[in-house]
Amino acid sequence: MEINGKPRLACMTQVASFDENETITVTPLRAFPIIKDLVADVSFNYKKAMEIPAFAPPKDLAPGEARMEQIDVERSQEFRKCIECFLCQDTCHVIRDHEENKESFAGPRFFIRIAELDMHPLDILKNRKRTAQEEHGLGMCNITKCCTEVCPEHIRITDNAIIPMKERVVDIKYDPARMFAGLLKREKRS
Ligand code: SF4
Ligand code: SF4
Repeated sequence: MEINGKPRLACMTQVASFDENETITVTPLRAFPIIKDLVADVSFNYKKAMEIPAFAPPKDLAPGEARMEQIDVERSQEFRKCIECFLCQDTCHVIRDHEENKESFAGPRFFIRIAELDMHPLDILKNRKRTAQEEHGLGMCNITKCCTEVCPEHIRITDNAIIPMKERVVDIKYDPARMFAGLLKREKRS
């Protein structure tokens, strides 16, 4: 919920952390419809979760056959700490005050999910970065880092997931080899 206007875990926020005379205001998550009192309908997040294709290992991989490098384990470990509190989703200005953006924007929680899958060496879906940009609204994020600031798990959402994905999307789009291949294709067609 929101405590004095800031998305926080109510269960982990001690009254003692406020000044003795400070008024403490508790309100429901603002980015989502209210069901009743402090209860918000966060089903938007589950809908977005379902739009992301699951982990896709090679079909012929036998159980116990694959070995991961420690470095690959550590890269995505951070993102698996997510407790799905959706505080990052609530604070993100792209949807917080813009209901109309919800259709095309998955939000920071799901950018780290896509990044986690994209970093997994056994995942065979090679287009996750492109779909993050084209289908999940990665380009709408303007790296304000508000999501990182409120994450109770201290996941560096912006620095370690969003920015690297944005950089790789640009690399793919402006890769000279790809651009040259595209030009050749167009010439052949004309
Ligand atoms: S960094 Fe991007 S995803 Fe995070 S709160 Fe800002 S706009 Fe939203
Ligand atoms: S990334 Fe952090 S703030 Fe966002 S849902 Fe996960 S734990 Fe909560």
